[in-house]
Amino acid sequence: MTKQTVMVIEDNHLNRKLFGDLLQVHGYETVMLDTPLTAVETAVRYMPDLILMDIQLPEISGLDLLPMLRAEPAIAHIPVVAVTAFAMKGDEENILSRGCCAYLAKPISVATFISTVRRYILPPGSGSTATAVG
Ligand code: MN
Repeated sequence: MTKQTVMVIEDNHLNRKLFGDLLQVHGYETVMLDTPLTAVETAVRYMPDLILMDIQLPEISGLDLLPMLRAEPAIAHIPVVAVTAFAMKGDEENILSRGCCAYLAKPISVATFISTVRRYILPPGSGSTATAVG
């Protein structure tokens, strides 16, 4: 069976390492980005089955990146899960209203992290044809 692919956009290297390790241990291919600047073109190239997106990113916030991902027809269907340290009331609604399918608060719970990925990731064979890099 072809592995499902998760693209992670996270500028913090410790979090990026944690998310990548967790995903790989659970059998997912990963495409790791430390900047939002190449997110759209990378998603088009690798056609991940899920995108995990930090909200607090340099250059472009996750809230601003989300409509850019949604505006590209090739990737508009890919579910996006937001990961954020924001703890302010109302942010979750804001994130969901902009089109993220779920919200994970840092520090993440490993169990919630993986169950959320499993819940929202596209089913195997639903369109990903590219070969992912680790
Ligand atoms: Mn960040």
